[in-house]
Amino acid sequence: MTATRIDGKTFAAKVRGQVAEHVTRLKNDHAITPGLAVVLVGEDPASQVYVRSKGKMTVEVGMKSVEHKLDINTPEADLLALIDQLNTDPEIHGILVQLPLPKHLDEDLVINAIDPAKDVDGFHISNVGLLGTGQKSMVPCTPLGCLMMLRAHHGSISGMDAVVIGRSNIVGKPMAQLLLNDSATVTIAHSRTKDLADVVRRADIVIAAVGRPQMVPGDWIKPGATVIDVGINRLDAPEKGEGKTRLVGDVDFDSCAAVAGAITPVPGGVGPMTIACLLANTVTACCRANGLAEPVGLTA
Ligand code: NDP
Repeated sequence: MTATRIDGKTFAAKVRGQVAEHVTRLKNDHAITPGLAVVLVGEDPASQVYVRSKGKMTVEVGMKSVEHKLDINTPEADLLALIDQLNTDPEIHGILVQLPLPKHLDEDLVINAIDPAKDVDGFHISNVGLLGTGQKSMVPCTPLGCLMMLRAHHGSISGMDAVVIGRSNIVGKPMAQLLLNDSATVTIAHSRTKDLADVVRRADIVIAAVGRPQMVPGDWIKPGATVIDVGINRLDAPEKGEGKTRLVGDVDFDSCAAVAGAITPVPGGVGPMTIACLLANTVTACCRANGLAEPVGLTA
């Protein structure tokens, strides 16, 4: 391996430390405790794990954590009524509705019912529009985490060629927008892109957000490029025991690390940054709601 390993775990711990310091200041100087409410509908095991870990880390940085666990058959009107109640609760500064929602619930309607100022996932249509026009917004957590790591590694990414593979609303598109706002030259690739290898080979920065295990091989990477692997894929790992699995990214780590200048591993890269950025967004939302200075370096 020749590439520098960008350690998301350590970076995320640093971000959580900065959040905790800011929370302490808010409590001591203003008697304000930032509060995050997480709403989970149903019992999807992966979502339950995420929600538990979000709650635990919220408390660890000194914030108030509220969890609402609703039955899988909860009517849409009940969920909207809960969101309405959280929107007007002065002790709640961030609201996150865990996705995906059960099929009978309209995801767009639910997300757009959240007060945009409390939309710490950054998925509300107002925040999408604000980000798209370069205005102050709540920024989706995973792309924000990627941007923080890129800024820390490169200083400035202005003028660099960046390729984002994937165009989802939660990762690919906001990622491309953030890179553009930082003056990178951005290409967005997707399943219809012709000659993806050729497109990726031109990039100084490659962001892979596809959901296909180890899809990007080392011979697609420009020597010295920075590779950010967003993908989380579970593969069978019989070598670890029967029924065991292991996590891999969208990038073939070994072959890419032999060519790249820097690379994030999976696990331990982008993943830990996502929750850290959720906490950062909550403290930012709290400061904005109270007309106070935002923490430096924790927003886009
Ligand atoms: P989506 O399934 O919503 O989007 C995947 C994108 O990849 C689509 O735009 C699709 O193109 C594109 N794509 C699919 N196949 C190919 C291909 N062969 N070549 C080029 N592009 C392709 O996924 P998400 O954006 O939600 O997530 C992407 C990955 O990131 C997943 O592994 C997910 O688990 C992970 N993730 C990780 C997070 C973290 O915290 N680290 C957070 C969120 C997601 P098209 O639009 O044409 O179909």
